[in-house]
Amino acid sequence: MKIHEYQAKALMADRGIAVPIGRVAATVAEAVAAVRPLIEESGNPVVVVKSQIHAGGRGKGRFKEHPDVGGVNVVTDGIEGGVGAAEERVRELASQMLGSTLVTIQTGEEGKEVNRLYIEQGIDIATELYLSVLLDRATSRNIVMASTEGGTEIEVVAEETPDKILREEIDPAFGLLPFQARHIAYTLGLEGDAFKNGVRFLDALTKAAVELDTDLVEINPLVVTTDGAVMALDGKMSFEANALYRHPEVAELRDMSEE
Ligand code: ADP
Ligand code: MG
Repeated sequence: MKIHEYQAKALMADRGIAVPIGRVAATVAEAVAAVRPLIEESGNPVVVVKSQIHAGGRGKGRFKEHPDVGGVNVVTDGIEGGVGAAEERVRELASQMLGSTLVTIQTGEEGKEVNRLYIEQGIDIATELYLSVLLDRATSRNIVMASTEGGTEIEVVAEETPDKILREEIDPAFGLLPFQARHIAYTLGLEGDAFKNGVRFLDALTKAAVELDTDLVEINPLVVTTDGAVMALDGKMSFEANALYRHPEVAELRDMSEE
């Protein structure tokens, strides 16, 4: 079972995994109302308007009804125009996006209707990385996959530059061991504060995957910010269906309109 990005991020935040702050909106009015509190809380006049569908590739996707609008939009109008200008731009984007059909590399030609938006604080990105925790059914173990090629689909990296993907198998009896976390952080090129934050992120993420019985958690991109924080900028989670009875709070997140 899949869930939306905003739901995955809420589950992550509850488990000490760093994510940007954001608010979900199902109407234009809700999207506009999210802008001021977000800018005030984050201190950043930039906000991002993100389509919530059960498919990736949203950033490069386009709306059938509005071919010039992408599925993820960084709104910078607030930098010079203040909160009012950011609100006006979000109003315009939300009216184009809500109820329209987003076509991405993962939706197929028919696309998916966007019924919810996630309005998120803008993050000052230094580096985009890739990280996932995947349940390997052959060994019944979780595997961490990490790559410096963030923002690119992992299937493409696997095909074109397979040596850029690091795999670490987790022994379920011990969890991700500290030396494994350090090895991954080192391979991702993290240094200083970002290294420490990366190790902490890996520890929390692998624990959350076990606790929630996920079969995939994919963070693409995982970002290092300009001040050394390590954050999940995107979040895809899917769950082992046979274990859902153990997680009523997750089962509740099912979105039938997506299935
Ligand atoms: P998708 O994978 O579906 O295209 P992402 O959430 O990965 O969607 O967003 C696409 C790109 O948009 C990211 O790689 C990043 O460059 C940018 N982006 C997404 N969220 C933010 C944010 N909160 N702040 C700044 N840039 C963002
Ligand atoms: Mg992504």
